Amino acid sequence: METQNLIGYQYIQSGKAFRAVNPATGSELDAEFNAASLQDADKAMQLAAQAFETYSLTGGKGKAAFLRSIAEEINAIGDTLIHQAMAESGLPEARLQGERGRTTGQLNMYANLLEEGSWVDAVIDTAIPDRTPLPRADIRKMMVPIGPAVVFGASNFPMAFSVAGGDTCSALASGCPVVVKAHPAHPGTGALVGEAIKKAAQKHGMPEGVFSLLYDDGYTIGEALVKHPKTKIVTFTGSLKGGMALVKMAQDRDEPIPVFAEMGSINPVILLPKALEKRAEELAKLSAAITTNAGQFCTQPGLLLAVRSVALGKFKTALAAAIADVNSATMLTPGICANFNKLSGDMLADSNVEVIAKSDKLNTDYINQGIAVVTQISASAFLADEKYKEEIFGPYTMLVVADDKAQLEQVVDSLHGQLTASIMAEKEELPQYKSITDKLAKLAGRVILNGPPTGVEVGNAIQHGGPYPSTSDSRFTSVGTGAIKRFVRPVCWQNWEQDMLPEELKDGNPLGIWRLVNGEMSK
Ligand code: NAP
Repeated sequence: METQNLIGYQYIQSGKAFRAVNPATGSELDAEFNAASLQDADKAMQLAAQAFETYSLTGGKGKAAFLRSIAEEINAIGDTLIHQAMAESGLPEARLQGERGRTTGQLNMYANLLEEGSWVDAVIDTAIPDRTPLPRADIRKMMVPIGPAVVFGASNFPMAFSVAGGDTCSALASGCPVVVKAHPAHPGTGALVGEAIKKAAQKHGMPEGVFSLLYDDGYTIGEALVKHPKTKIVTFTGSLKGGMALVKMAQDRDEPIPVFAEMGSINPVILLPKALEKRAEELAKLSAAITTNAGQFCTQPGLLLAVRSVALGKFKTALAAAIADVNSATMLTPGICANFNKLSGDMLADSNVEVIAKSDKLNTDYINQGIAVVTQISASAFLADEKYKEEIFGPYTMLVVADDKAQLEQVVDSLHGQLTASIMAEKEELPQYKSITDKLAKLAGRVILNGPPTGVEVGNAIQHGGPYPSTSDSRFTSVGTGAIKRFVRPVCWQNWEQDMLPEELKDGNPLGIWRLVNGEMSK
């Protein structure tokens, strides 16, 4: 494994050494990485800016072949990649195999999008020379890439939201070169994937600098990359504190740039009375969404909302039994585990909070174990203190019990922006709760009927992004083909010669893409 910083096509050894820690054992792993220097960060950004000159003009088929080749190179790493990710993240093998499939699946999905080509949103209004009182010029618009992107790898998806994850993949698909700041928790996984991207880039003759990978176990390099004048866009998945620090940094630059940060979400799930009456035990299977992989998902349901009833009591009993049966699981990093223990411990010690269930199945063979906890609070206490609305990243959920429908609605009104909001309901009771269901689309980016919020589909229609603080810009998604829109801006060509126009905008539609021509969609 190449453990040095990858700058364009060169591996360069620079600053302070660090090692990743196996969170299950607390021991340092063998491979030694070096934090990048400020000169490395500058070189990577300068190269990315140079690469942008040609990469931004690379056609859809060329970029598609590059992305498919990255997927092939990742698969060619084989089990070494899975074992490295297991050692660095504590996540189980099956989950990481699934995540590798998701990562390569995303790359191939973008390749399909590029080969089809209509994603550029071509719009053409042809000239009307004899229009009165003024003639109309020929005007043609499409999306073009913005410039070099800085991608922060996420701790909780060492592959699918990291070095070749959704952000890198959608940036490269758009025509933007990428400099990744690897998450320090899984540098080895990043190094293996980074080498795969380098091989694919060289094989397809991509300009040097289309991809670089830098390490750091602190904030210096991340900050330098966000502040670098050649950086035009930043993406991030992690904490509210980290995300907002980057947003502020980007806004304070001489040239402010967009930061697409995916931050905290508690993903409320509303349990309506008839659903509870009819299927309390089935609804208690939400325990899986609460606890799988120690609940370390941005869409983990951290809040359940219901009106007090006998059926709610049955649900609580079933949920308590399911949670009590969940084995503890290794959390991603010692820091994440310490944070979880502190925040969930504060809740357990809070006089307003009652424990519904706490698993006692602690795996003593390993350390940094996340133990599932479900608590309960009255709606009035919940409404009285903002602290109950903060994300507790891990296998923790709080049930808020309202006295009646009006109070349930008050709780929904009090919530901050979310990635998802779900409702468990029988069809016949939904109309009665329309005042609440109507609020869900204002609250969250994805609203779910009768399903858990976890398990984000990677596709065309998915929305993974919601009002602040769940993300820094609710107009965009970080999952699915829509994620490419974060890296592009519209440009319109007015009154241009045909042979000077991009292929996408020429008469005769040489690429055969969908276009809006004089107000009508056509190929
Ligand atoms: P994090 O602390 O937000 O860090 C994510 C990445 O951003 C890391 O590479 C980190 O660098 C960097 N970073 C953070 N603050 C920065 C700053 N001010 N300047 C420059 N770089 C900065 O997230 P994490 O390490 O993954 O986990 C910590 C907490 O984040 C979790 O306990 C959880 O609450 C939350 N989290 C949320 C989600 C979600 O999907 N909502 C996902 C993962 C984590 P360093 O690591 O070198 O410090």
